[in-house]
Amino acid sequence: MPVRTEVCVVGAGPAGVAAAITLSRAGRAVTLLDAGQAASPQPGHHLPPDVPAALGVDRDELAAIAQPCPGRVVAWAGPAADHSYLFDPAGCAWNVERTALDALLVGRAAAAGARVCPGTSLVGARRDGGWELTVRGADGAEAAMRAETVLDASGRRAAFARTQGVGVLRPDRLVAAFAVVPAADADRRFVLEAAADGWWYAVPVPGARLALAWITDPQRLRAAGGRRALLAHARATTELVAARVPGGADAPVSVVACGSALRETITGPGWLAVGDAAAHVDPLWGQGLRHALELGVRAAEAVLVRAPDRPGVFTVYAAAVRRQWLEAERTRVALYREAASAHASPFWEESARALAIASTGSE
Ligand SMILES: Cc1cc2nc3c(=O)[nH]c(=O)nc-3n(C[C@H](O)[C@H](O)[C@H](O)COP(=O)(O)OP(=O)(O)OC[C@H]3O[C@@H](n4cnc5c(N)ncnc54)[C@H](O)[C@@H]3O)c2cc1C
Repeated sequence: MPVRTEVCVVGAGPAGVAAAITLSRAGRAVTLLDAGQAASPQPGHHLPPDVPAALGVDRDELAAIAQPCPGRVVAWAGPAADHSYLFDPAGCAWNVERTALDALLVGRAAAAGARVCPGTSLVGARRDGGWELTVRGADGAEAAMRAETVLDASGRRAAFARTQGVGVLRPDRLVAAFAVVPAADADRRFVLEAAADGWWYAVPVPGARLALAWITDPQRLRAAGGRRALLAHARATTELVAARVPGGADAPVSVVACGSALRETITGPGWLAVGDAAAHVDPLWGQGLRHALELGVRAAEAVLVRAPDRPGVFTVYAAAVRRQWLEAERTRVALYREAASAHASPFWEESARALAIASTGSE
């Protein structure tokens, strides 16, 4: 006998959690599946001052898992500029490792009444009036689940949308190579720096450590010597980031895809894609978590107001997602072009050309 639920939310990142909380509070029976990706290494995240409030996380909770960040230093298309959060009405920014943040958020969803299934992946979906889903537990055993509605909040993997053969538009193939090293100093500011062959960021995270990442394309990562050469490459090609990495530091390096993408279809009968599964912009945008939360809430609201006499609610949601992605991509294209004019290197010239697709895109 399959397990039954009204809404199956696939993925317990910020988008899935926000949707699950909104739906549970409105009295819907929600099952929140998570494959457990947070157990693998995650890049450090910078939360601008107003994001914790949007996450529903207060200062004390955040202080236990994150590092307060008094400002940022950005060297993009000219000399480094310093920005202090001292006078920001929302207070300072925060730097956080995702594992702790995600655990906190999942606890919120459970407290709101969602049935949370950790270590459980969606592996199949078939439309049969509602949805007949196949899920796989951490022990490899498969089980059936019936859901009226599915929200695909599985991040860049878009696990549900892919079972429906939905494609994706990718203006670029950027990757992030990232590591966490001991911090060279007590400077808590966030650093962002453009170099000739990509851009870097470094965020101090709890435990006197520094999370750093290089955003580039796979060819240039290989040409630089691959992931093992990350720290040496930081020292050779950056100034601000290199100054924060202690001499002789060594650490495991992970690589993830991080380019922008827009799902070709964001909704269909009884399903919606949410957060990064619907659309994402490269991390330069710095709004990924906020965007995921907002879409999670909006998608949940669409589910709540949808009725037979309002069939267009999901389509309106999908149009808003596409519009927002295009706006964010245009901003990114403008920033990449600024860097291209300042750095005049093949990486920036190729990136600016590849991104032209977004600047000409329309609804
Ligand atoms: C290098 C890098 C740096 C970034 N830095 C920042 C930053 O500083 N600030 C910021 O705001 N944003 C940043 N982002 C963006 C941010 O990480 C994402 O936008 C955000 O995590 C999206 O949230 P989500 O809930 O949509 O997806 P995710 O956070 O990716 O969550 C998806 C969840 O789905 C689960 N899942 C996957 N497949 C399945 C399946 N088959 N079945 C069940 N569950 C599944 C995973 O386990 C995961 O928990 C960064 C991204 C990258 C790549």
